[in-house]
Amino acid sequence: MVLWEAECSDRHAVFIAENLGLDLTRGRPSADQLSLANALDGALNGDYIAPDGTDARNYGGLDGLPDMKRLAAELLQVKPDEVLVGGNSSLTLMYNCMLFGWLFGFSGQQPWSRQGNVKFLCPVPGYDRHFSICEEFGMEMVTVPMTEGGPDMDTVEAMIRGGGNIKGIWCVPKYSNPTGHVYGDITVERLARLGKTAAADFRVFYDNAYAVHDLTDNPPQLAPVMTACRRFGTEDSVLQFASTSKVTFAGAGVGFLASSVANLDAFRKHLAVATIGPDKVNQLRHLRVIDSMDALRGHMQQHASLLQPRFEAVLNALRENFADSDLGSWTEPQGGYFISFDTRPGLAGEVVKLAAEAGVKLTPAGATFPYGRDPEDRNIRLAPSCPSVEEITAAMAVFVNCVKLTSIRQKLAE
Ligand code: PLP
Repeated sequence: MVLWEAECSDRHAVFIAENLGLDLTRGRPSADQLSLANALDGALNGDYIAPDGTDARNYGGLDGLPDMKRLAAELLQVKPDEVLVGGNSSLTLMYNCMLFGWLFGFSGQQPWSRQGNVKFLCPVPGYDRHFSICEEFGMEMVTVPMTEGGPDMDTVEAMIRGGGNIKGIWCVPKYSNPTGHVYGDITVERLARLGKTAAADFRVFYDNAYAVHDLTDNPPQLAPVMTACRRFGTEDSVLQFASTSKVTFAGAGVGFLASSVANLDAFRKHLAVATIGPDKVNQLRHLRVIDSMDALRGHMQQHASLLQPRFEAVLNALRENFADSDLGSWTEPQGGYFISFDTRPGLAGEVVKLAAEAGVKLTPAGATFPYGRDPEDRNIRLAPSCPSVEEITAAMAVFVNCVKLTSIRQKLAE
């Protein structure tokens, strides 16, 4: 054990000397992925008239272009009048939904800000930016464990039955950030049913950011949540979000909000005060490049061929080093942008620190939990989309060594 520690320490010192400068932090598309959508540039070629006759350059159309609504409706498996097409960010739409609930209330209820200590359920590990929204509004976040099939629904249902002013839950139903898990049919069904027992202003924030981001030829299918909601009469209880941020340009895509007509009417009322309309020129150039679900799927296959080897580079390093050990466990997603790694308890922060010393930036430990606090200090989100395969391989050599080194040192200290 002592010898092994010395070996890993020496290797770590070599990595430090190499001054690597690698980054596995945020889930950004690589330049090659962004280039797949370069046809956006020039796609309009002076023709700004949308298929429905709208001049995209002018004001108006708070919901976005009808053809974009149709495409988003197919993507999210809802009706076109259940879609609002926004600007370049679905996160902004999530923030605005939270803001409107906070300031004005949902379904004729008091604003959340006037209902005392309101709470949101947060499946963990989860997406840090969701948690930041709750934190911004001072909403208490209550964690729920994630399972392979989605949030632990027994816990979710028990919490909602128990009252306690729970107003919503964050969900990333397909290739969840960071685990990559896909919600099972029963989970989707149970989420749709929550609206029957929860408060009238309870909302599932259903962030389907990775709806078409498959890495395999035979990807898992996500059951359509709105179809289940229609069966239960709970259409108002789910707010769905998605965007083309990781389809076309991450900073210049198109965001979508899908929900019941009643919810969208309420949303529009407030949105209309804030804006005269979204960027329809950007929507139109997107339609010129990707005009159907078939075109979208074809485009995403090109993304998959760039992402797949990067995921494999991470997974190969983990399998080769930890397959027969108890030094860590990880997920093997079939899509999305992340791999979730769990160290032994108490080591994630130290691994991230050591990796930074050796020039490999990792997502801060704790980022996948509300308030940045992982109670077991175990979870690390690995984001392999942006660096090259060579860079990932080099970064993973450092990562693997840091996991070994911290684990040995912990054992030696016992
Ligand atoms: N939702 C999830 C789960 C994400 O992982 C991300 C980006 O990483 C976003 C939303 C951001 O979406 P947008 O660019 O549409 O704001």
